[in-house]
Amino acid sequence: MPVRVTIWNEYRHELTDEYVKKIYPDGIHEALRNQLSSETDFVIRTATLDQPEHGLTDEVIENTDVLLWWGHMAHGQVKDEIVKKVADRVRRGMGIILLHSAHASKLMQVLTGCSGSLSWREQNEKQIMWNMKPTHPITEGIGEYILIEHEETYGEPFGIPNPDELIFISWFSGGNVFRSGWVKNIENGKLFYFQPGHETFPSYKNPQVIRVLKNAIRYIKPSGYTEHVDSIWQKEPVNR
Ligand code: ZN
Repeated sequence: MPVRVTIWNEYRHELTDEYVKKIYPDGIHEALRNQLSSETDFVIRTATLDQPEHGLTDEVIENTDVLLWWGHMAHGQVKDEIVKKVADRVRRGMGIILLHSAHASKLMQVLTGCSGSLSWREQNEKQIMWNMKPTHPITEGIGEYILIEHEETYGEPFGIPNPDELIFISWFSGGNVFRSGWVKNIENGKLFYFQPGHETFPSYKNPQVIRVLKNAIRYIKPSGYTEHVDSIWQKEPVNR
């Protein structure tokens, strides 16, 4: 069975900032789609904030196995009604990847019950993202660490729940450390937070960053028995 992937992007910086437009001329969502479409078992669609229902109709939400989410300047414009539908779908088994500044998204807050707050600065610092789980499916093919020459610095303390699986911890040349990649189980679904991807740096053209996303999509996709997990109903005893 193919993995049905939906890439959601706010798609504002790329339209309004000339510098960002040069890095991602068709938007971050199209850059990700191009990179991920090499995988023949992925069926990929995209959705953006300014589309009707933010591109996330019931049909799209119900037929998505893994949703990638990039947002930054317009978190507040994402309708609560859509957030609720996406969160409900995660609880019923859909995987979700919250990218970079989605740490402050409504979805992060609704799904984790935490603020997602962190410290940050934009000083083109070098980042080393250390692989904490060398035998984990998400780090397959990654090796000891991922080196990113320039990224926005994110630092602890990070306002998140204790992760169920802590996959990456980063060091930045300014001295900060940060939990850059982690998995949290949300009822029947899995949330993967992954930090690289500031809009003024080409991190989504880094093959190792993309490799992590490919691995993560396969790891958090729902599998197995998922019928009826959304309903509570009275049943006859199994053993009669
Ligand atoms: Zn950023």
